[in-house]
Amino acid sequence: MRNRSFYVARSVGIVAGYLLLFALCLFLTRPYKMAVSYPFQLVAVWFAALACFWRAIRCSSRVRVLWSLLSAAVFLWAVGLSLSAWEDLTRNSMQIDAGASDLFYLLYGVPILLAISLPTDRPEIGLFPWIDGVQVVMTTCLVYVTLFSTFPFMHHAPKPISASLLQATYNIENFAFAGFATLRLLGRPNAPEARRFYQILAAFLWAYTLCAGLYNHVTITLQEQTGMYDLLVIFPFLLVAGCALLPQTQQPAEAKAPMGSLLTSFIDNASPILYTYTLLAFGIAVTRTHFGWAVSAIVIALFVYGARSILLQNRLIRSQYELRQARDQLEVISLRDSLTGVANRRCFDQILAAEWARAMRLQSSLSLLMIDIDYFKNLNDQYGHRYGDECLIKVAAALQSALTRSGDLLARYGGEEFAAILMDTDRQGAEVVAARMQSEVGALMLNNKTSLGDIITISVGIATCITFEGGSAAALVQASDRALYQAKEHGRNRIQFGSTEFGSNGDVAAAASIE
Ligand code: GH3
Ligand code: MG
Ligand code: MG
Repeated sequence: MRNRSFYVARSVGIVAGYLLLFALCLFLTRPYKMAVSYPFQLVAVWFAALACFWRAIRCSSRVRVLWSLLSAAVFLWAVGLSLSAWEDLTRNSMQIDAGASDLFYLLYGVPILLAISLPTDRPEIGLFPWIDGVQVVMTTCLVYVTLFSTFPFMHHAPKPISASLLQATYNIENFAFAGFATLRLLGRPNAPEARRFYQILAAFLWAYTLCAGLYNHVTITLQEQTGMYDLLVIFPFLLVAGCALLPQTQQPAEAKAPMGSLLTSFIDNASPILYTYTLLAFGIAVTRTHFGWAVSAIVIALFVYGARSILLQNRLIRSQYELRQARDQLEVISLRDSLTGVANRRCFDQILAAEWARAMRLQSSLSLLMIDIDYFKNLNDQYGHRYGDECLIKVAAALQSALTRSGDLLARYGGEEFAAILMDTDRQGAEVVAARMQSEVGALMLNNKTSLGDIITISVGIATCITFEGGSAAALVQASDRALYQAKEHGRNRIQFGSTEFGSNGDVAAAASIE
């Protein structure tokens, strides 16, 4: 297994060898250098497009779109170069539309911009990247029309344009792309593959900006189209091809830096609206010279803006609805006991506090029942925990069926202990409910061989509050718990009343009456 440095050295060697061969051929065939230069350039650029395409096929689905966009960009550039070669080499023979190559050189920027502005995470609305694509293509066409006063294949002669203006336009475009790609890289895409892609893209775009800037400057200064400086044209493409063909290494995922995520979210959110503004601005700028193009651009910009707003609004309403549903479900889950399905301790505490306050305000009675299964440990030991769980579910259902009023609440207090809050219920009422609970549980006839008999039984401690002076919900729980304890002490399978004589400190008195 060869290591990465071997592949890097091999790629560097091939690129250097190709550049050297190109330089040698240019030197040796000076009179025909244009005819020699173009094939070298075309092979390099088409090879780069195929290399990116190969990477797009081989890479993981997370970055496939990115590599496909880069490959499309290099393809468009390759088409532009092929048309340039055609225009230059067949001049005066078979004329094709002058300036068509420039359209492709400009269009090369469309996939590059889309790759830079593609949201970090998969967009929720898949239509958005396409909408952005339409805007960027339209803007590019407007740039072309602004520069050349016509459009290829319309058979109007393009207005002569100064080479320095064209050079400045390309330099600004290249510099802006390289800058945007660097910003995207600084945003630190979290996925290692995406980070690697943006490293390669930024390297390519900076190399392209420098080489193209230098090349344009030299050709305009020398007023000559072909020379050793043609090496500059292919260097960025050989660089990107080399990077695309290098074996991928596993890079660790990086924690997102706060600054990075801020930048990423800015690029993600601002790019679409910047595209719309740019299109609108260009549309307005060409209103007087190219009315048709201007109207189309403005209509598209407004349509895109409207469509995006509607889709986002729609998405927002849907997510709000889904969020509300999830919140309701969570609330239900957080207040239910997962085994028995009755209210849990959390819900019990909330309801008891509310009922206590209500009863105190209305001066109505409030009863609390503490219910405990007798000898449940014994049942678990004899029949196993699984059977124990099944019994808990059935006992909970039986206790629930003993509560007939809609305001009554049964909760699992913990382990095999349940609690029932009976509002507006006095001592006699609470006793009736407790007796009903005992008979419902008895009717289940669940096996539990103990000194009490062969079936499951329960003990119930009752505390009823009529005067709330000096009392508290916690003291009511304490009273019913103490009553339950005494029911156990006095033989189990029984109902016990607790005292609710509250002391000055809110504690309940220790006395309890035995029924
Ligand atoms: P007592 O009559 O005094 O209440 O006797 P007991 O054995 O029921 O009392 P104790 O509180 O000592 O034991 C409670 C047992 O309940 C302990 C544990 O084995 C069992 N238990 C608690 N929670 C669960 C549960 O979720 N599932 C099952 N299967 N058993 C549980
Ligand atoms: Mg028990
Ligand atoms: Mg217990």
